[in-house]
Amino acid sequence: MDVKTLAVVGAGQMGAGIAQVAAQSGISVVLVDVDAELVERGVAGIRAQLDRAVSKGKLKTEDAKGALARLKTASSPQEAAQADFAVEAVTENEGVKKKVFQDLARALRPDAILATNTSSIPITRIAAIVDRPERVIGMHFMNPVPVMQLVEIIRGAQTSDATYTATRALAARMGKTTVLSKDMPGFIVNRILIPMLNEACFAVQEGLASAEDIDTAMKLGTNVPMGPLTLADFIGLDTCLYIAEVLHKGLGDDKYRPAPLLRQYVDAGWLGRKTKRGFYTY
Ligand code: NAD
Repeated sequence: MDVKTLAVVGAGQMGAGIAQVAAQSGISVVLVDVDAELVERGVAGIRAQLDRAVSKGKLKTEDAKGALARLKTASSPQEAAQADFAVEAVTENEGVKKKVFQDLARALRPDAILATNTSSIPITRIAAIVDRPERVIGMHFMNPVPVMQLVEIIRGAQTSDATYTATRALAARMGKTTVLSKDMPGFIVNRILIPMLNEACFAVQEGLASAEDIDTAMKLGTNVPMGPLTLADFIGLDTCLYIAEVLHKGLGDDKYRPAPLLRQYVDAGWLGRKTKRGFYTY
């Protein structure tokens, strides 16, 4: 399947990034959000990103113009009816996502593929509520989408081989490397990353070492660009806590229990970079 028009629903941080990369890859995109103002905000962000790339000499002016010309906007899935592939990147709320999937299934051709960028909701459960569960799949982009190379593809219990093949091909066309995960809590990256960040929180809580020394140890000792506490602050401590809870509940093993210190920081409103205080102050 050669994707001609991609609908991206949700023009926030992730949706705008997905739309930008797809448009830069020569794909026609319809970017959808709940109202014109929100979609415009998403497009303004994309324009700013492209302008920055041009001014740094990383992108030709005509390529930026071409990408913007391939980008259309809409305020409902009905206006994206011509799309043969949709990626949903709306707020991480199961009720909201299910409604968007029902609207997309009604609006798009019966053979269109519906993908979700969810970080934590089972693909199988979203697939079960539409008329084409075999054409539903997880396509988990990393943040920021234009920079990060990886896309995790998640097959729900019902996902067909053809849907998987088409999704892999789309990700490759967008210049991404894919990995395949089963539909289990956290998929691959968060299943392994979040317990490590959580363990770093336990280490601070127990006074094993200072936050700075934990980060230096992991950075230089395991050759990663950021220590775990710096990374947790960057992701947002509320997001880390939420994913830890998803792992704990979904896998039912106490080894995934969130560190009480992490919970306390979130209770205090110390969410990391975005609130200027987390394990560090900014
Ligand atoms: P965000 O809050 O920046 O954007 C969400 C957008 O969805 C908003 O613009 C909102 O107006 C829009 N929206 C809400 N309801 C809608 C509806 N019914 N129809 C159309 N648009 C609607 O969120 P985000 O960080 O971009 O996250 C989006 C999705 O991507 C979530 O499922 C999240 O779990 C996932 N994700 C996020 C990250 C990350 O680091 N932020 C990484 C990977 C995956």
